[in-house]
Amino acid sequence: MNAFHLARNGSFTSWVMIAVLVSSALNFSCGQEYIISVEDTTEHLRFLSSDELKGRHALSPEITLAEDYIASEFKQAGLKPLEGLSDFRQSFSISEYSINSVRATLNGKPLSENSLFGRVFTDSLVWTSMDANAYEVAMISRDESFRARFGELNRSASSTLVFVDSEHADTFNRYQQFYSRPSRTMSDQNPSVVYVLAPKNFNPNSSFEIHLTTEKTSFSLANVAGYIPGERTDEIVLFSAHHDHIGIRSVVEGDSIANGANDNASGVSSVIQLAHYYSSLAKPERSIYFVTFTAEEMGGYGSRYFSQQLNPDEIVAMFNMEMIGKPAVSGPNSAWITGYDRSSFGQILSDSAPDSVYEFYPDPYPSQNLFYRSDNATLARLGVPAHSISTTPIDVDPDYHQVSDELETIDLDHLNNTIKAIARAAKGIISGVETPTRIDPETVDR
Ligand SMILES: [Zn+2]
Repeated sequence: MNAFHLARNGSFTSWVMIAVLVSSALNFSCGQEYIISVEDTTEHLRFLSSDELKGRHALSPEITLAEDYIASEFKQAGLKPLEGLSDFRQSFSISEYSINSVRATLNGKPLSENSLFGRVFTDSLVWTSMDANAYEVAMISRDESFRARFGELNRSASSTLVFVDSEHADTFNRYQQFYSRPSRTMSDQNPSVVYVLAPKNFNPNSSFEIHLTTEKTSFSLANVAGYIPGERTDEIVLFSAHHDHIGIRSVVEGDSIANGANDNASGVSSVIQLAHYYSSLAKPERSIYFVTFTAEEMGGYGSRYFSQQLNPDEIVAMFNMEMIGKPAVSGPNSAWITGYDRSSFGQILSDSAPDSVYEFYPDPYPSQNLFYRSDNATLARLGVPAHSISTTPIDVDPDYHQVSDELETIDLDHLNNTIKAIARAAKGIISGVETPTRIDPETVDR
């Protein structure tokens, strides 16, 4: 490790002190400690953000190139595939249902196409007022919050037909437009919910008939995951980043590939580097998992699937790296943590190396809701101290979700220093000396 990248200013004595502190914290055992170098970090970033990968859209064929690359790095690092898997791909499938025909009547009169939409997860659906066993009926009345009820109803365990009071017509129309796109699911047993805009003076005892057919397309997706077994096999420290991005966009100055160098090839490069680094150290006290998630940009399917394959109570901390390729407003030797006050995770990182010039501090953009805008939220809902670490001034970043998010915009020294700082800050948690408090799932929005 080159401690000189970590120091911003200071006398020779403090350089030496930092070097001593860092090396004593590192528990050298095999003498072959992996050096997290800017050259290697750059190589990972260059490949993952290259045009060849076409922006790593989760549903594109090119995403497998990224997955193969990460898997081969995990193999070289000597990670083990997760329990029950023969390699580093953690595969699953999602299905998309597009409604392709609708026939609906209310009191014998045909309903216009705009007065109905649904999240339908079946090949065909026939609901009539004569056969009330196939579904439940609910109402969003004029005094209720459409948004809140919509969220609730979409989580209901049974298929539901929802009549929406005509007072909500404007909101209904906006949702109807949004949900005209296909509905996605990871499960085969998702209940369907159909929303009908009720006419004025609607009578709940009206007779109706709804006939819907859908077209289903299935996609195979994969997270990439591996681990280092620790002495305590039921205590897991998780390092993660999403490897998918948004793919091809409309052309800007001859470029249409959203390369996602910062979002989130930077985070994936850190997971690869951390895998090499921790593999080079002595057997850890806690097991260390390294996972890159697919389909974060599409709604977090990869982290959702991952969280269902293990007992989340065993995950003692989740370090989720998001967009760490550009220096924060507070400077290149700093990173912030989303949801800082939700557990003691952030405080542990902040306190981990008081003599280091690298600082961890609370997310300076609370209004951006960043805690909810990455895969950590899925695990936080299960009680895991799960936080994202980021450095990008998201409010002013000109490249965020643009075709200009390319390698050339990345501050490679800053990125590499951030990876090294995370490697060091995680030591106390990996060694079992520090244990972050759990997040209260009740406080995390669905
Ligand atoms: Zn993104």
